[in-house]
Amino acid sequence: MDKSLLHTVYDTEIFRKKGHELIDQLADHLEDKLQQNSGNAIHWNEPDKELAFWKAFLEKGDENQLFSEITKRTTYIHHPHYIGHQVTPTAPMTALTGMISSLLNNGMAVYEMGMSPSAIERVVTDVLCKKIGFDMTSGGVLTSGGTLANLTALLTARKVNVKTDIWNEGTQQRLGIIVSEEAHYCVDRAAKIMGLGEQGIIKIPATKDFRMDTSLLEEKYKQAQDSGIYIFAIIGSAPSTSTGMFDNLQEIADFAKSKQLWFHVDGAHGGAAIFSPKYKTLLKGIDQADSVVIDGHKMMMMPALTTALLYKKSAHTNLTFSQKADYLLTESELEDWCNSGKKTFECTKTMMSIHWFTMLKLYGEDVFNAYVTHLFDMGEQFAQIIQQHPQFELAVAPMSNIVCFKYVDTTLSSEAQNGQNQAIRQALLEDGEFYIVQTKLRGVHYLRVTVMNPFTKETHFENLLAKICRLAITV
Ligand SMILES: *Cc1c(COP(=O)(O)O)cnc(C)c1O
Repeated sequence: MDKSLLHTVYDTEIFRKKGHELIDQLADHLEDKLQQNSGNAIHWNEPDKELAFWKAFLEKGDENQLFSEITKRTTYIHHPHYIGHQVTPTAPMTALTGMISSLLNNGMAVYEMGMSPSAIERVVTDVLCKKIGFDMTSGGVLTSGGTLANLTALLTARKVNVKTDIWNEGTQQRLGIIVSEEAHYCVDRAAKIMGLGEQGIIKIPATKDFRMDTSLLEEKYKQAQDSGIYIFAIIGSAPSTSTGMFDNLQEIADFAKSKQLWFHVDGAHGGAAIFSPKYKTLLKGIDQADSVVIDGHKMMMMPALTTALLYKKSAHTNLTFSQKADYLLTESELEDWCNSGKKTFECTKTMMSIHWFTMLKLYGEDVFNAYVTHLFDMGEQFAQIIQQHPQFELAVAPMSNIVCFKYVDTTLSSEAQNGQNQAIRQALLEDGEFYIVQTKLRGVHYLRVTVMNPFTKETHFENLLAKICRLAITV
């Protein structure tokens, strides 16, 4: 054992030097990627080859190349040709807040282990609640991702709406939630984790434009009730992930009210539109939700993972987990806003609130409006280009920055067209100039883009389509 290693680990001069080098390297990376009109969004490597590279690197790689190799061997989220998944090109300032969090490591489970991030979390969640349209009795928490936030919200919903104390005593009762068939799979997972089973997930079929068909709510509710299921919550997607289509939240809110259901809005992707005067109409009814989820790492330019879970009644946040951990938490029955560990899954969590606060402080709320509004506009622009192109077809006219489309070769059967679009997407990945993804909707294979980079322009879209046309002949 070599104890002097510990001095090396904490050597502040090495940290200073490496830190400056890293900032320079990352700034070069940004300069090289942002606002590019050419170059690759990814240098694709087969998983087995990548694995072999890193095994060898651990043995004999040059440690001075470590950070640059990691950077090079990723998907370049900041490149305008990255139009794939919903993860945002981070605002560079939030990489700095990420570094503060990583170094200071205040775990935040209790106030005294993170005074500033705890108080800041309160400030940030209050801003979001107000923007949603909630009143002074609202409140929220930040947590690690939309998946965990949706599960947390549904646990709160069950606690509030089911009379028995399931958290402590378990239950034999058959419980259920209502959700669109198009909802993110994490809602399914949450329900399964909560023991609702397949029969407890009442799936509402979507309309032809992939939004919850609210005309079926009454009938599906009654069917479930007649089969002995007690429904305690309904979830609206804002928007659903595959197609980016928003459920009609107002109609869901009205239904929830009539049946006294907990109304949860999964706004992981599009909840940020509360900041957009142009697009917030898509969220009409969100102010009537009992809980709302908004991801910071999707439409708000922050590093993964950070998600806001906002409640109409802040008192509900304290009910979710009533398990006692007396060594951590005060007994107080009063609202204990500053000890976030009481209200979140995490015990230790990152100082994630400082990303949100820094964005608000440096750029103001309007930065979220600028980002969301511009990107949703770009989704519309891309859709128009698709529509005008004889070789392409939209799955549905988009409501957001998520656009599903396919290459159309009418000489092929629909089965063969599925194969062709799948092959196109694989060829695009291996080529690397553009990064887009894919999805299957009602048996049809679509290419899928999410416009996430504010510098992706019309010419990029046109170049992408031209490339797809060239690839279509070769695949
Ligand atoms: C991305 C997404 C999620 C999952 O959120 P994570 O932060 O990736 O866990 C849930 N719901 C919707 C609608 C999403 O788009």
